[in-house]
Amino acid sequence: MTDLKRLTMVEASNLLSRGEITSVQLCKECLDRISSVDGKMKAFLSLNEEEVLSQAKESDARRASGKALGPFDGVPVTIKDNIAVKGQKCSCASRILENFVSPYDATVIAKLRNAGMVLMGRANMDEFAMGSSCENSAFQKTANPWDITRVPGGSSGGSAASVAAGETVIALGSDTGGSIRQPASFCGIVGLKPTYGRVSRYGLVAFASSLDQIGPMSKDVRDSAAMLDLICGEDERDSTSLPAPVPEGGFLAALERSGEDLKGMKIGVPKEYFQVEGVADGVKKVTEEAMEKLKALGAEFVEITLPHTKYAMACYYIIAPAEASANLARFDGIRYGYRNESSGDLVRTYFDSRGEGFGPEVTRRIMLGTYVLSSGYYDAYYVRAQKVRTLIRRDFVEAFGKCDLIFTPVTPAPAFHFGEKSDPMQMYLSDVFTTALNLAGNCGISVPAGIDRESNMPSGIQLIAPDLAEEKLFHAAYAFEKARGAFPVPAL
Ligand code: GLN
Repeated sequence: MTDLKRLTMVEASNLLSRGEITSVQLCKECLDRISSVDGKMKAFLSLNEEEVLSQAKESDARRASGKALGPFDGVPVTIKDNIAVKGQKCSCASRILENFVSPYDATVIAKLRNAGMVLMGRANMDEFAMGSSCENSAFQKTANPWDITRVPGGSSGGSAASVAAGETVIALGSDTGGSIRQPASFCGIVGLKPTYGRVSRYGLVAFASSLDQIGPMSKDVRDSAAMLDLICGEDERDSTSLPAPVPEGGFLAALERSGEDLKGMKIGVPKEYFQVEGVADGVKKVTEEAMEKLKALGAEFVEITLPHTKYAMACYYIIAPAEASANLARFDGIRYGYRNESSGDLVRTYFDSRGEGFGPEVTRRIMLGTYVLSSGYYDAYYVRAQKVRTLIRRDFVEAFGKCDLIFTPVTPAPAFHFGEKSDPMQMYLSDVFTTALNLAGNCGISVPAGIDRESNMPSGIQLIAPDLAEEKLFHAAYAFEKARGAFPVPAL
């Protein structure tokens, strides 16, 4: 039996290449694990066992005949439910897309197939990726494997929980304002938000197109680099994807070459982030201990300032809903998904289908977005938020003149209990440390740092790098991870 809670994609690849396990065996172990814990945890929205096993069989056959598609051929990967896989349902955890089947593969999926990976099920999320707890899913609430009375975070909560609980080897999530990094921190795993444009968004159901990025959710930093190698790259189907260089041999190879220490690395600590009210003592403690570890590795901490960061939340909650209201206009009951068949005329069909198809949070965002884009308010809200966005980005550019990386907590508090944040504003505040860099466009990683002693829940740190400097993120995160030692796993 494999220790699935710890088995990484790189280790699975080694086991497969040495013939110590087959893809069918590995996938069966994951399926067994799912059937024993997912009744309680509910990370999966859909999973077709036959499809999983037939992909695994094909992979084993390729490997047996010396034709493996690469080192990760046969390794299972779980996909967030807003990424299109041809022939599979893609509901975005929404009633309006409940029975929608994707007619094509997202670019990231085509890349995973070309690498021979086994697509293993679709992970629960907040509806259309709007939320921080998975409680906004129209279908089920995913529980945190560390404590099933608590949320796994969101919106990529199903992806995070499935990786942490060892139901799968690795997963893909998407991050518009923190949806990879926050659930990663809540579940004790690694989550990367790549630089905007590093990974193609073709086939990712759009929430806020200028902020969305797909990224890996993994058990360690090496897997994060390995997965970024597989999914990154310019794509003619996404005009915002970038022709960005990758390190020689790829991110994983660069990470293996990178030094064990952080001598000469300057890490900026934004003074504003430590003035944020409501940061739990346990989180502060984990953060301070992590800083000590980074210092012991040779990093030098410098104080920096991100003066406009205090407006990031307000700015995000104008720009993201504005873009969402435009993107979600396509769900009209005519072209995709749910339709109220008894509405009578066309306009009523739109109203009824949308009214019944979208949940309360999505409806709230559409209303907010429509409001800030309406004539009379456009300049006061939307245009002003765009200007603030430019200032936020400028803050980062200036700060990176003084340091190589920036260090912050990921979230003000560890995973909360179900129902605890019933006021939407309270929920939005869990993103105070994560939204700024979606607005600025650069990259960030959430790495498990310790167990918060107040709640007994995992808590992560966030490292932020300039545009396209994922290599630096991986170097520091990997060195930190080694100094930290093996991270505990959930009991579930
Ligand atoms: N929690 C944030 C929101 O609700 C971020 C979501 C995300 O990154 N997809 O918008």
